[in-house]
Amino acid sequence: MNLDFAPEDNAFRLEARAFIAQNYPKILRDKQDKGEALTKEDYLSWHRILAAKGWSTPSWPVELGGTGWTATQKYIWSEEQARADTITILPFGVSMLAPVLYTFGTDEQKAKFLPGIRDGLVWWCQGYSEPGAGSDLASLKTRAERVTGDDGKEYYIVNGQKTWTTLGQHADWGFFLVRTDQTAKPQSGISFLLIDMKSPGIEVRRITTLEGGHEVNDVFLDNVKVPVENRIFHENQGWTCAKALLAHERSGIAGVARSKRGLERLRQMASTEMSDQGATLLSDAFFKRKVTELEIDLTALEFTELRTLAGESSGKGPGPESSILKIKGTEIQQRLQDLALEAAGHYGAPFLGEAGHNSGVGPLHSLDTAGDYFNGRKTSIYGGSNEIQRNIIAKMVLGL
Ligand SMILES: Cc1cc2nc3c(=O)[nH]c(=O)nc-3n(C[C@H](O)[C@H](O)[C@H](O)COP(=O)(O)OP(=O)(O)OC[C@H]3O[C@@H](n4cnc5c(N)ncnc54)[C@H](O)[C@@H]3O)c2cc1C
Repeated sequence: MNLDFAPEDNAFRLEARAFIAQNYPKILRDKQDKGEALTKEDYLSWHRILAAKGWSTPSWPVELGGTGWTATQKYIWSEEQARADTITILPFGVSMLAPVLYTFGTDEQKAKFLPGIRDGLVWWCQGYSEPGAGSDLASLKTRAERVTGDDGKEYYIVNGQKTWTTLGQHADWGFFLVRTDQTAKPQSGISFLLIDMKSPGIEVRRITTLEGGHEVNDVFLDNVKVPVENRIFHENQGWTCAKALLAHERSGIAGVARSKRGLERLRQMASTEMSDQGATLLSDAFFKRKVTELEIDLTALEFTELRTLAGESSGKGPGPESSILKIKGTEIQQRLQDLALEAAGHYGAPFLGEAGHNSGVGPLHSLDTAGDYFNGRKTSIYGGSNEIQRNIIAKMVLGL
């Protein structure tokens, strides 16, 4: 694979870099530097700035708001965002729901929902997992019964519980998998519904994560009334949408550009002197070997991601290879967090769980290493656990 950048790609890189430098909100930068929690408005502010520039949805079809960038330009854009340590646009609307909408939705559904996603006006959450249905997602029990309302219109009445709903406390809308046929085979009786999170009967309850943050929730649905026109694709065929969405979710988790930036930061951390003899952790052969092994694996992953991006540019959706990206990407993220905590040494220990970050003792680079480490345990679980991804690779790629 030729990785030389053409002059127009280098020009694009400079344009992207300058745009971020001129437009990234200072208030966000300050909060990130201090490790402060971001509000809903903080998350959406960068999204809206990108939307105004026409850059919030690079992978969408051009006629719907995509940028028409080549695979190389998309790669450069993710590199430049990671380099500048911008926050990432949340994936739930832009890269998870939107491809389902523009592939399976009606023209009315596309017109109603895509602009709000593109412009960062509507916050979406994902209602897939349930207490008894995670890896075995098709065993989900949340049920939707079809009724005719007093107004003569058709509705689904939804009852059940979803769990691990990421940032559901901020969500305006959610995309949910519900069971519409109790008698069919598990995968055949599921429908894909869009639900207004302000609907009566929805309750969102906090789950506190290991590092003390509020990132995930339980969502309870008690007789929630959902218009039938909010169903995407056919009744009982929501599994088709569900699978397409999961492939997009997985390939987005790899985070190669962010890990490259993380590796740079790790090297800087490990290059500071540990003692008055001038020794650095990076001069320790054992530690250096771990960093180098990580770099080799990250480079290999980068090439795999580039191949996937090239395939997507030629119209192929992400296939089972997204499982490879997910496994390797999240393993690398966790190894980076392990090594960062090792590099922080005892400064990684002072840790205020509720605030979600460390108390400010020790060098700046050690702040958040423990929080990141604890929070990062999730990555090998969410988006379908890595064990399940291995099963998918065995079946779909290796044909076992
Ligand atoms: C931080 C976080 C955020 C999340 N956000 C969302 C969200 O926004 N929306 C949403 O719908 N879901 C979300 N999830 C849920 C996530 O998709 C599930 O946690 C995941 O699919 C695993 O399901 P489970 O937790 O029920 O574990 P289980 O399915 O009970 O699995 C438990 C263990 O058994 C292993 N296992 C299970 N079956 C097999 C098998 N067949 N072969 C080998 N090993 C197996 C698993 O790998 C795992 O290690 C989130 C999860 C986390 C941790």
